[in-house]
Amino acid sequence: MHAKVVVIGSGPAGLTAALYAARASLEPLVIRGLQPGGLLATTNEVENYPGFPDVVGGYDLMQKMEDQAARFGTSYLDAVVEQVNFSERPFQLTTDSGDVITADVVIISTGASPRKLGVPGEEKLANRGVSYCATCDCFFFRGKRAVVVGGGNSALDEGLFLTRFVTELVIVHRRGELRADSILQERAFANPKVRFIWDATVDKVLGDERVTGVQIKNLKSGEESILETDAVFPYIGHLPNTALFVGQIDLDEGGYILTDGRTRTNIPGVFAAGDVVDHIYRQAITAAGEGCMAAMEATWFLSEQEHAAHKAQMPAPETTVLGRW
Ligand code: NAP
Repeated sequence: MHAKVVVIGSGPAGLTAALYAARASLEPLVIRGLQPGGLLATTNEVENYPGFPDVVGGYDLMQKMEDQAARFGTSYLDAVVEQVNFSERPFQLTTDSGDVITADVVIISTGASPRKLGVPGEEKLANRGVSYCATCDCFFFRGKRAVVVGGGNSALDEGLFLTRFVTELVIVHRRGELRADSILQERAFANPKVRFIWDATVDKVLGDERVTGVQIKNLKSGEESILETDAVFPYIGHLPNTALFVGQIDLDEGGYILTDGRTRTNIPGVFAAGDVVDHIYRQAITAAGEGCMAAMEATWFLSEQEHAAHKAQMPAPETTVLGRW
């Protein structure tokens, strides 16, 4: 299979790139990846994406983006890219089903994944009380107690959503003040189901078959205590999904893809957009903006390539000797 433009990842960056590439008649192929729609598709409500004054669900927003890009000729493939070869053109991508896809241009928008706590019990009890997606798993915890770890927008946003289901929500944060936007802070402080444990970390997730509690450490006093709970939702940031590209393109020390500010990586013809690049803004709207930029850059890159190929095929102009002086 060959495509002029292959987009890896289907979050806001990837789908906006696809929309623009499709409208430039490049018939892009989007390889959806493990989480179609990206992390935003697992977000309950999106209140800050322009154009939706009445709130839009994360899943609905991503479905709309996908439909919009499809309308102009985008194709989708449900697969995970397991290997890339950017050392020669066309670029080669091998999927989890063993298919090899070649591409003139690749736009990487693989996003980021939730950072894990890295404490005993977390892995063992994953999907048995430990969850990284409140929107996906909220129904399992109706009438139960939950702990959210973190003090950013995700912790508060998803925590507040959880309060519709749980009887008590404890937010454990490692500092004495929150990083989240003030509007979310106000809502959390006003919510009778929400309680904060400040200056503390979760050191252990407890339970055999299911989560039964967490061990909490006060970072100021060093004191350890047990908090009984049925669920733990770590919302402590994200790590870029770039393992696939190690040794193929330049990454920074945090594993984010390095670009030149115009979405161009160090490999001509490979572009990157969204959370896989951006460790500062990380918003749906900035990811979408970068996706647009990447598609425009890709379009210009392909035009230049075509122009150069066309020029190379033209016969060399004859040299006319005009005479001697
Ligand atoms: P974030 O803003 O990086 O916040 C991560 C939180 O986890 C911080 O409070 C951090 O503590 C804490 N943390 C980090 N490592 C930790 C560890 N090892 N143990 C305990 N706590 C730890 O990440 P995010 O909340 O996922 O948000 C990511 C981006 O998405 C942000 O740009 C955010 O604005 C955006 N977002 C926006 C919305 C919205 O607008 N509604 C919703 C969700 C996400 P410190 O504060 O001490 O560093």
